[in-house]
Amino acid sequence: MRLGELRIDEVGGAEGASGYLTIDLEALGRNYEALAHKAGPAGAAAVVKADAYGLGAERVAETVYQRGCRYFFVAQFAEASKLRPALPRDAQIFVLNGLQPGSEDICAYENIIPVINSIPQWRNWARTARKLGRRLPVVVQFDTGMSRLGLSPEERPLLAQEIAEQPDVEILFLMSHLASADDGENAQNWEQLEELRAITKEFPGYKLSFANSGGLFLGDAFNVGLARPGIALYGAPSGQPSPMEAVVRLDVAVIQTRTVPAGAKVGYGGVHVTSKQTRLATISAGYADGLPRSLSDRGAVYFGGIRLPIVGRVSMDSITIDISALPEGAIGLGSLVELLGPNQTLEDVARDAGTISYEILTALGHRYHRQYRSIASGRKSHVQ
Ligand SMILES: *Cc1c(COP(=O)(O)O)cnc(C)c1O
Repeated sequence: MRLGELRIDEVGGAEGASGYLTIDLEALGRNYEALAHKAGPAGAAAVVKADAYGLGAERVAETVYQRGCRYFFVAQFAEASKLRPALPRDAQIFVLNGLQPGSEDICAYENIIPVINSIPQWRNWARTARKLGRRLPVVVQFDTGMSRLGLSPEERPLLAQEIAEQPDVEILFLMSHLASADDGENAQNWEQLEELRAITKEFPGYKLSFANSGGLFLGDAFNVGLARPGIALYGAPSGQPSPMEAVVRLDVAVIQTRTVPAGAKVGYGGVHVTSKQTRLATISAGYADGLPRSLSDRGAVYFGGIRLPIVGRVSMDSITIDISALPEGAIGLGSLVELLGPNQTLEDVARDAGTISYEILTALGHRYHRQYRSIASGRKSHVQ
């Protein structure tokens, strides 16, 4: 079977799937290397929260580990705990959302490193270190103007005091996060950098971590310490001005075709009415598969490079498309149309849906047959 440039060697039990989500771990590995190179001597972590933005945290983490990545960020303790056995011990796993009360012992026991976002979290971790009689590592996050997570400016003197009193806690990195890194013109980027500089004066000598994917492309000034790219690893934005390679391809099966006359109502609510005789196809994915309902009567799929507009409302399990642009009989039951691939990027779909690529990626559901193109063999392996 051939899907665009990507050859699927073994369909291995996947014939007849409703859709194929193909994850190119080779491209992902190259993206990691490009980002790590851009990050310079301090290197790049991999942000693999939310199951690596829906692509499979274990597979993604193993791939970038093989390319030299030793730092991994997840959002929640449960994600870290699940990922821990997949990675060698020298891989450090950090929990961005902080240290939840009650999870301290298990966190220490499982060799998971919390990002400390407040003084109470610091104190709980220091207490755990004393109890266990060993030094425990942390990353300390500062709020530099996003008002989301991290120590506020008022908490900094308290932190200085805690550091002086707590030799049991070892700070690996001081970090902060950019709120507007995807917008190079936004003055907030510079405001946050200034605030970070003030922090490094108050707490000198520590390693830093600052830039996310967008931050890596803001210019050298923002490239301080360990970078934390997420979305760029997964291929967005692909093409100009970012050099990332697309990682995800999504092909969905046609489940029925029909020809309707002018004046036919299409889909729920009858909101789309055909203006002329129209050939339609219904494909086997809907909002339950992460294709937002906001794509109703917007956006398109592709077949052989030809754009086929979405018509009518997106249903839970299906979408209807106008295939009139194709020669009669070009597609039928079992054909695959491209949702994401060479003709349509994540950003294209996100724009049509009125959202961001992050939301499209993390919502891609679990009903597609997943296939990974892996580094080791260059062949596919199949999961699901
Ligand atoms: C999600 C996240 C990242 C990664 O952001 P991208 O824009 O996907 O590169 C980095 N740091 C923090 C704190 C995050 O929450």
